[in-house]
Amino acid sequence: MLKDHLQELQQHDTPLYVYDLDLLRQTLRKAQDEAARYGYQVHYALKANANAPILAEVKAHSFGADCVSGNEVKCAIENGFSPEHVVFAGVGKSDAEINFALDNDIFCFNCESSHELAILNELAAAKGKTARIALRINPNVNANTHKYITTGLEENKFGINAWELPDVLSQLQELSNLKLTGLHFHIGSQITDLSSFKNLCTRVNEFQEWFQQHNLELEHVNVGGGLGVDYYHPDGQPIPDFEAYFALFHQFLQVRPGQQVHFELGRSLVAQCGTLLSRVLYIKHGKTTNFAILDAGMTELIRPALYQSYHKIENLSSQLAEDKYDVVGPICESSDCFGKAVVLPETNRGDLIAIRTAGAYGQVMTSEYNLRDRAKAIYLHQ
Ligand SMILES: *Cc1c(COP(=O)(O)O)cnc(C)c1O
Repeated sequence: MLKDHLQELQQHDTPLYVYDLDLLRQTLRKAQDEAARYGYQVHYALKANANAPILAEVKAHSFGADCVSGNEVKCAIENGFSPEHVVFAGVGKSDAEINFALDNDIFCFNCESSHELAILNELAAAKGKTARIALRINPNVNANTHKYITTGLEENKFGINAWELPDVLSQLQELSNLKLTGLHFHIGSQITDLSSFKNLCTRVNEFQEWFQQHNLELEHVNVGGGLGVDYYHPDGQPIPDFEAYFALFHQFLQVRPGQQVHFELGRSLVAQCGTLLSRVLYIKHGKTTNFAILDAGMTELIRPALYQSYHKIENLSSQLAEDKYDVVGPICESSDCFGKAVVLPETNRGDLIAIRTAGAYGQVMTSEYNLRDRAKAIYLHQ
């Protein structure tokens, strides 16, 4: 619990990211144990959090790396992930990024369009290499999550649509520097309704059937990530239900003999271990509401402004009677608000405020807007 570390936390300047490595280890262990029951392999999606101490734990628990930029591929390799456990996805891979990944002989390029296949083949040919690829297919499955983090609908920019597949297969016969090794799917993020994954399995089974009819054997099928976390009860449910998640795939996904199943989890592994710690600068009494103005803002955690997302907010310093506050940051934008009408104990200047479940898509999305300094990080139980 953060309150147990209050004395230590008080010695630090804010805003500050605080990571509980004990909780991270428990989460990673649980995910690996549950995946191992079925021989599933999990790649960690670096874009959720790429801090070196976090990556060291992820690596120590035998995860591979799922990257969406050349710098993420570089970061994974520099942090000890072996290239044969690195996959590279993304709709807009630049030539330089592709060349870097080719030079490092990564496990697989997850390709998102027929144009990309042509360019990748050209770049691989120039190096005399064969690139291992998976086709990222858009399965047209609704993830029932926020519209900005839904990726598996035909209206989204991601993946190859079903009706393009016959053309892509004939195109692949001409592309001699590509080796088709798998299929890839990723329908979105913060998915809490597991029936979305069941629908995904049904679609994947249909695509697998289609590829088999075309006499194509695939070494692996990659069903992406997206498992959600409980932003409302970070202490009640700190570890997501990996047991139910992997069991669902085991029940509904039809796997070919010898075929490997890959997952790419980001948020569910790292969200709960991170907290954004802040101090109250000012209290302002508005007409209908009180404002608690923090020294952290959307430059440190943009999720509320970008996705209207909820983060639990706690006052670690006060035990006074409760009141309601709009908890806002210092940035010159009205969207710079962490929560409206938040019930907190009476809050005063200098109180330490914890914004919970900030380990994923938090520190990686910080910016220097308003010429702000980048937030630092500390690690508990290192
Ligand atoms: C972001 C992303 C992931 C991870 O998603 P989470 O919701 O954090 O688990 C996995 N695969 C791809 C291709 C992604 O873009």
